[in-house]
Amino acid sequence: MELPRKILIGDGVISSLSEFVQDIGYVGSTIAFVTGRTVKKRAGSECKSSFKTSPVKATWHIVADSSVSSVLKLKRSLIKDIPDFIIALGGGRAVDVAKMTAYHLNKPFISVPTSASHDGIASPFVSIRGSNKPFSIKAKTPSGVLADTSLLAEAPQRLMASGCGDLVAKITATKDWELARDENNEYFGSYAANLACMSAKIILNESNELRTKNRYGIRIVVEALISAGVAACIAGSSRPCSGSEHLFSHAVEYLVGPNYGLHGERVGLGTIMMAKLHDVDWELIIETLEAVGAPTKAKQINLSEPQVVSSLIAAQTLRPDRYTILNRAKLDKRSAFELAKSAKVI
Ligand SMILES: [Zn+2]
Repeated sequence: MELPRKILIGDGVISSLSEFVQDIGYVGSTIAFVTGRTVKKRAGSECKSSFKTSPVKATWHIVADSSVSSVLKLKRSLIKDIPDFIIALGGGRAVDVAKMTAYHLNKPFISVPTSASHDGIASPFVSIRGSNKPFSIKAKTPSGVLADTSLLAEAPQRLMASGCGDLVAKITATKDWELARDENNEYFGSYAANLACMSAKIILNESNELRTKNRYGIRIVVEALISAGVAACIAGSSRPCSGSEHLFSHAVEYLVGPNYGLHGERVGLGTIMMAKLHDVDWELIIETLEAVGAPTKAKQINLSEPQVVSSLIAAQTLRPDRYTILNRAKLDKRSAFELAKSAKVI
């Protein structure tokens, strides 16, 4: 198991980034910050001023997307002047690109999320566009996670709602894992599964608190996302966090395109349908997503009925090594349509 060594969550903790890094044991002289243009404007100066008194040389690298070419571009610029460690400051894109590059260069990496939108902030898994694998792959586990709740609270509500979609997904992901144990004789880690499931249950229980984007709500979501990421670290695979609902989301990205909803929004829709297949309380998933302001209908993320149906069918064959409820359901055009309709997604 490789786990994050230190996790710090709280209001204004970004000002102690320098001490955080030293506490983890990185007293190197060069840091590479990987971020997005908007985030750099929002939080860059606070990061810089945190290192004011330490004699470190920082370079800044802006990433536009989480594609293979962004990873290669970052790798090329870091190879010239290899940093002692990499700090990802941002949402999904910066964290994914930094994590993948840190893995390639075998350098430690610290995650500083600026939105609570997905569980990759603490897990070793990344989704990189344009690779031959249209699903998450293993990269570097963050050595540290620093989550500043005042910074996270500034992010749009839609991002936090998307994070909730990625969290309710753990209900169906862990059901799929149980199924793989029972029907496909796979290893099942009950501790990791319980931990992932717990981070979904807290969202189901507290959903009404989460709509009003207060600090309490942000803290619940970010803690749950970090716990889910740690569950993936413990399992050594994305199994506790990603099942058939993620396959649906990856199929949408692969077949229809990357700009239909956010990761957690697509995963949330997938969770409703896969919960129905698993015969668990799918209506509670809908209520929860509605309460946090996440989409529950395909049209809310501009997906048409035929696109949902073809993505459900493609999801079954996208990742042959991942046994899920889709292996049992064997959806065809008609049954996929009926599933989406009866789960009220279309
Ligand atoms: Zn996810």
